[in-house]
Amino acid sequence: RAKIAVAQVDYAYANKVVALRNVNLNVHSGEFVCLLGPSGCGKSTLLYALAGQLVPTGGTVSIDDQRIRGPGPDRLLMFQEAALFPWMTVLGNLQFALAARGVPRSERKARALEFIQRVHLSGFENTLPHQLSGGMKMRVSLARALATDPAVLLMDEPFGALDAQTRIHMQELLQSIWLRTRKTVVFVTHDVHEALMLGTRVVLMAPRPGRIVKDLEVHLPMPRS
Ligand code: ADP
Ligand code: ADP
Repeated sequence: RAKIAVAQVDYAYANKVVALRNVNLNVHSGEFVCLLGPSGCGKSTLLYALAGQLVPTGGTVSIDDQRIRGPGPDRLLMFQEAALFPWMTVLGNLQFALAARGVPRSERKARALEFIQRVHLSGFENTLPHQLSGGMKMRVSLARALATDPAVLLMDEPFGALDAQTRIHMQELLQSIWLRTRKTVVFVTHDVHEALMLGTRVVLMAPRPGRIVKDLEVHLPMPRS
């Protein structure tokens, strides 16, 4: 769990496009914040600034009152692409991530299996990614992200490439896992319905220049059953 403070952040790309202007945002521990807005409003740029993948041209980003100066193991970024190693099995992909995170060898397998189960992929431990559907690959990616237990989960339209039915399943799965873990999440989407379904809070952005125009507390998502 972690809190995030974005203070007076500006970001201009090399071509002078002002992607963010004077963005202020405080994300409290355990919130699920959706960044919502049309294409080009700076959602991804803001997420990358939180990840430490880009350095703001002005202002600061802090995690737990510590100014961030780059990427760190406390923040995990997930994309539309599941980004699995194709030559490693499902179990292998998770174990590799746990090794990279410094989890002792003796604990990796049990932990990997636990998270494979949480995303309902028991039975596919020894399967290679190319044998899985897009939704299943995304479930592996989610399991891997959760298994490494980052303080903050940063998600950039993670379900954007999935078909409608699979997307709904992934939203429900993420919601049910989040309801149990209450991990701090920042989730980028341009889908109003997705933002309202998943978020405890919806932050609306607008383009030219990219900025926050509304910040709405919405109800805690309720379990579906
Ligand atoms: P999406 O809307 O799916 O996020 P984009 O088309 O916004 O995709 O961006 C795709 C890639 O192109 C990203 O890596 C982004 O940083 C880059 N990109 C977007 N706009 C520009 C631009 N005006 N000039 C250069 N690169 C850009
Ligand atoms: P969103 O995620 O809301 O679609 P982005 O953060 O990707 O918005 O982009 C914000 C603005 O910055 C857009 O005008 C986009 O074209 C521009 N942009 C994004 N990436 C780049 C890049 N690598 N170089 C130049 N301009 C970019």
